[in-house]
Amino acid sequence: MESLRHFSIETAGTVHHLKWLLASLRISGAKDFPKGSPHSIQFPSLSSGDTIPRIDPAQKLASIKEQIGECRRCRLHEGRSHLVFGEGSPTARLVFVGEAPGFDEDRQGIPFVGRAGKLLNKMIDSLGLTRDHVYICNVVKCRPPRNRTPNADEIEICSVFLIQQLMAIKPEIICALGNCAAQTLLETSNSVSRLRGRLHQWRGIPLICTFHPAYLLRNPSQKAAVWQDLHEIYSILNEQEGG
Ligand code: SF4
Repeated sequence: MESLRHFSIETAGTVHHLKWLLASLRISGAKDFPKGSPHSIQFPSLSSGDTIPRIDPAQKLASIKEQIGECRRCRLHEGRSHLVFGEGSPTARLVFVGEAPGFDEDRQGIPFVGRAGKLLNKMIDSLGLTRDHVYICNVVKCRPPRNRTPNADEIEICSVFLIQQLMAIKPEIICALGNCAAQTLLETSNSVSRLRGRLHQWRGIPLICTFHPAYLLRNPSQKAAVWQDLHEIYSILNEQEGG
């Protein structure tokens, strides 16, 4: 009886995993899956002069947005006014990832527009860039009740979209703002204060962690640390520009 119970739990887990794998494939643009045995599948042949067409990042982002739709995949949809997908250049060299929309973001459907957003604008400005040059999004797209930290299951469900966004844009550097973004992308439980100050990698893309602007508003003594992290981002962007 016990082994039967284990079997059903494992099966449910596998089904859940496959469901999200299929969702990811669809978001990536896969529309149909071939039927029949693997041997009967015909793959188109590429002649030596052919190039594999690169899908436009703007199109990919539009397709991800379409897939999210009026998402109800987790309980966070219950209290939202607007789903906050993300904003900025689809070809951004730098992507900022925060935690979740707050009050103002939920009202306007735009990420980082409240007090923390104004501080993020200053941070972007210090890099010699504007919001149009970068891309800004969050780990979860709907505001958690009373701005609580998103739960692990909500992060697991929604981060599928964040991963797809990052893969569509393929930036030269990612800046994780705060614990939630840093821990989700680096799959760790270490705090941002332990993770900042060194260069990480996310699927081959350099990643820098720093404090969330909302935390910085409450703890202005951490300003120097954040400017140090921004300086590191600036150096990486300049290095890559210089080839
Ligand atoms: S937080 Fe993400 S998964 Fe949950 S309802 Fe909103 S968009 Fe969907």
